[in-house]
Amino acid sequence: MSELHKFLFDGLPVRGMLVRLTGAWAEILRRRAANTATGAYAVPVRELLGEMTAAGVLMQGSIQFDGALVMQIFGDGPVKVAVAEVQPDLSLRATATLVGGVPEAAALGDLINAHGRGRCAMTLDPRDKLPGRQAYQSMVPLVDADGRRLQNFGAMVEHYLRQSEQLDTRIVLAADDHVAAGLLVQRMPLEGQANLGGGSEEADEHFNRIATLAASLTREELLTLDADTILRRLFWEEKLVRFEPRAGIHGPHFACTCSRERVAAMIRGLGREEADSIVAERGDIEVGCEFCGAQYRFDAVDAQQIFTGAAERPPGTQAVQ
Ligand SMILES: [Zn+2]
Repeated sequence: MSELHKFLFDGLPVRGMLVRLTGAWAEILRRRAANTATGAYAVPVRELLGEMTAAGVLMQGSIQFDGALVMQIFGDGPVKVAVAEVQPDLSLRATATLVGGVPEAAALGDLINAHGRGRCAMTLDPRDKLPGRQAYQSMVPLVDADGRRLQNFGAMVEHYLRQSEQLDTRIVLAADDHVAAGLLVQRMPLEGQANLGGGSEEADEHFNRIATLAASLTREELLTLDADTILRRLFWEEKLVRFEPRAGIHGPHFACTCSRERVAAMIRGLGREEADSIVAERGDIEVGCEFCGAQYRFDAVDAQQIFTGAAERPPGTQAVQ
């Protein structure tokens, strides 16, 4: 079950969060793997997308924004677009569009910033948007705090949170084919003081010590250990105040607005003639969801039924979703 754990360091202006996506992450990978037009993600893309998704949950949990948080990478390498979206209720979805092949051991920079033109867009899209009001978007270069080409995705998120939200943050991210996970520790804004540079020397020391402990977490530990074990191992000398974890329907969970019915309505919108010509040419109509990678397939009979209004086929015979 996917979980988000929040905690404070007692008496210190530092907070933390640990996310472990299991079921939600498996669903993202399952939809992609079942899509016959794309096939499963190559390993380096899977790692990037898992880290983006885990980071999205940590950022949504840390900014507590009442609307969608959308993280998009517009790459200039094999990854053309990668997107992870997390809602305030921690429902999430993610997908990536690729061009050409992805080398098995491609480094992050080669995947998304091969020619130095890759960008990341962070968008905060308010839930109750007034008419004409835009979402807030910042473009973030794919470099770390020192301006070097990005070697890991977490460094970019740290850089963004520092620049845009004035939040001093340390993030560790990892993903494999079962788990996408992340640990965040963050200096809490003090009342009446700027977060960066406004704290006392003592507060700096506390944050630096905790950030160093957090950064010592290995990818292997993050992927294989449960939250209690990780927090005990890293922070056994600190006084942690833990909150009730968010899990199950209140925790991070997969959700996408796509459905077979919506795709059928879209095909109906194309018109019968167009639909018939696609079926004649290809044998069926395949539509992929651009937000979650799911594939919906309508064979000749299904396509007929869209226009004749015949009863839905029984659920057991539904095609790849
Ligand atoms: Zn979808």
